[in-house]
Amino acid sequence: MTTPREHLIDWLQDAYAMEVQAEKLMDNLRSRLNQYPSLSAKLDQHIQETKGQAEQVKQCLHQLGADTSSLKTGFAAFTGTAQALSGMFVTDEVVKGAVFSHAFEQFEVANYTVLIAAAQAAGEPAIAATLEAIRREEEAMAGWLRDNLPALVQQFLLTGEKR
Ligand code: MG
Ligand code: FE
Repeated sequence: MTTPREHLIDWLQDAYAMEVQAEKLMDNLRSRLNQYPSLSAKLDQHIQETKGQAEQVKQCLHQLGADTSSLKTGFAAFTGTAQALSGMFVTDEVVKGAVFSHAFEQFEVANYTVLIAAAQAAGEPAIAATLEAIRREEEAMAGWLRDNLPALVQQFLLTGEKR
């Protein structure tokens, strides 16, 4: 039988891969948003947070006597690159990118919610607290994207296909 601790380790490895993917996706999107300074700046800020999240998740794994999975991280990095590339040359990519980014942040929120419950079940309150702090950053980013979508769409509709 798989113990809560083993599931926690497995899901933390997934979360590490998710953060590596998140960084690549945001980095790629940001590099093509010269006309949208506020979104670009926000992505830049969250890229820095994301690097910190990946490091914190790695530390959680070390505290459990485990490490990141090169297999999982490698695959996620590959799919992240493929997804980032697939959005290229789409004229409304700023809108599509913002929608996708919002959905991705909500995906992260749900995953950290699972991890927090797993950490509590495994008797790891310190790890749960770290994961709660990360979840607050994801919620803040998801909220910012949602709140700024209308202005972003207005700017896109006014300035057309410039980027
Ligand atoms: Mg994240
Ligand atoms: Fe995030």
